[in-house]
Amino acid sequence: MTTLRIIFPDQLSKSISSLEGLDKNTDGVMICEYIQDLTSISHHSKKIAFILSAMRHFAKELIEDGINTSYIQFDALINETSFLKQIKKVIQELNPLLIIVTKPSEFRLLKMINSWKTLLNIPTEILDDTRFLCSDNDFKKWVKDKKQLRMEFFYREMRKKYSILIDSDGSPTGGRWNYDKENRKPPSKYLDIPPRLSHKKSFITKDVLALVKNRFSKNFGILEPFHYAVTRDEALKELDHFIKFILPKFGDYQDAMLASEPYLYHSLISSYLNVGLLLPLEVCKKAEIAYNDNLASINCVEGFIRQILGWREYIRGIYWHFMPEYANLNSLNATITLPDFYWTTNTKMFCVAEAVTHTRDHAYSHHIQRLMITGNFALIAGLDVKQVQQWYLAVYSDAFEWVEMPNTLGMSLFGDNGIVASKPYAASGKYINRMSNYCKKCYYDPNQMTGEKSCPFNSLYWDFLVRHEDKFRGNQRMPFVFTTWDKFTPEKKQEIRTHAKIILQKMSEGIL
Ligand SMILES: Cc1cc2nc3c(=O)[nH]c(=O)nc-3n(C[C@H](O)[C@H](O)[C@H](O)COP(=O)(O)OP(=O)(O)OC[C@H]3O[C@@H](n4cnc5c(N)ncnc54)[C@H](O)[C@@H]3O)c2cc1C
Ligand code: SF4
Repeated sequence: MTTLRIIFPDQLSKSISSLEGLDKNTDGVMICEYIQDLTSISHHSKKIAFILSAMRHFAKELIEDGINTSYIQFDALINETSFLKQIKKVIQELNPLLIIVTKPSEFRLLKMINSWKTLLNIPTEILDDTRFLCSDNDFKKWVKDKKQLRMEFFYREMRKKYSILIDSDGSPTGGRWNYDKENRKPPSKYLDIPPRLSHKKSFITKDVLALVKNRFSKNFGILEPFHYAVTRDEALKELDHFIKFILPKFGDYQDAMLASEPYLYHSLISSYLNVGLLLPLEVCKKAEIAYNDNLASINCVEGFIRQILGWREYIRGIYWHFMPEYANLNSLNATITLPDFYWTTNTKMFCVAEAVTHTRDHAYSHHIQRLMITGNFALIAGLDVKQVQQWYLAVYSDAFEWVEMPNTLGMSLFGDNGIVASKPYAASGKYINRMSNYCKKCYYDPNQMTGEKSCPFNSLYWDFLVRHEDKFRGNQRMPFVFTTWDKFTPEKKQEIRTHAKIILQKMSEGIL
């Protein structure tokens, strides 16, 4: 039976379920650089280039494999913006009796596909995305009867299910499930950080870079130099490079931040995982082998595997379980306009300028910068949750709604009222000073609470907690926070809160 198999931009895996059983004699594949995805928000220019180049290389590989592939390029879509019309054209040529897709990663797309059934008058089969390690049904089963959906317990189940870092008697390798405590070393001055790979640019990539330069010149971000892997072979090289040279230090400095060091010991593989060039299980298995071969210690390997087998799968489960209502949550009623410095880097706060600069230059910043710098600031300043989410979705090459939204709205902004995070990731300048060398280079002083030179994170932190005292005073994971606040004199409390208002005023005037 002639079947049309549609591949979305983040489904670039030959092992994807929608390609299973493909008959080269009859079936066709359609891949479309859907214009609305590229222009609906101002994505980072590197992100656009990465995704388009990876898509075009993937299509080329399918064609070389002898698969009848209709690839619709961005330029061909200029006068024809409807995805549906593009599908109709392909249907006219192929005359399929069935359309097969793998479940898309976004709710909006799933809705669109469900509408095809009536609009196209051809049955459409939506298959599970088996690249993920926890199916929607399994997540549903895990959620059932739970009062709290803590990632840690989900992760333990996943370790057992896939028998990763599990000893023959069923206990966790090394005796513990979690080595987080060993993974919070502050940065030392003399960290020896291995260089990263850069990949030779193919003609396809050069074409794409020219297109992005030409058509997306006003978008945020610096396009070149462009070092991204754009094929599976290149992404595997990135993974092997990480496992061999970087994983051995991944854990120790997982929470550290250093000026002018955007990557430290992070893997940089999220974009490759998210578009399908790498598969999560193969990544976890390679890390486990590194531990078995004594190439990396248990805290590094467990810490890394937890991010993928635990956090990544859990975040996806949360997205599908709580959508579409999740998208409209704003439990802390955060509505203040996102300041310009999220785009311009123009702020005297060194930590924020640094995180945004890394973002602008690489379409990347590491997790602690996203969570404890840009996210933390947004949380304690009360920035508008939708605007903050739009920013995260636009600026990172790994950003797709399913993973960006629960991380931003849930983990970072506590906008989901604690579904993802058991307490808000709010911190003062003291934490940032401990975990980075940023404060030494900053106009502001992390040790001052009020006054012109005081670190804005300090007064905003207390103001945030007091603004939401009703919600957080009883939180068992924050036992000493309000005890400290209660010890401040009424004058000090007033001074801090007044200063927080001054900070927000300065922010709105663009002089923070
Ligand atoms: C506010 C905010 C927004 C985020 N938005 C995204 C996003 O749009 N896309 C995205 O992939 N990740 C997002 N993350 C999670 C995390 O920051 C990135 O996955 C990570 O920084 C990617 O860099 P890396 O590959 O070097 O990761 P590493 O630090 O090397 O971690 C290894 C891998 O673990 C996975 N991982 C780690 N933490 C998470 C997490 N919290 N959720 C899901 N996967 C995780 C990623 O696949 C990552 O590649 C966000 C985090 C925050 C706090
Ligand atoms: S002093 Fe405050 S604003 Fe400056 S780098 Fe440190 S934490 Fe950031």
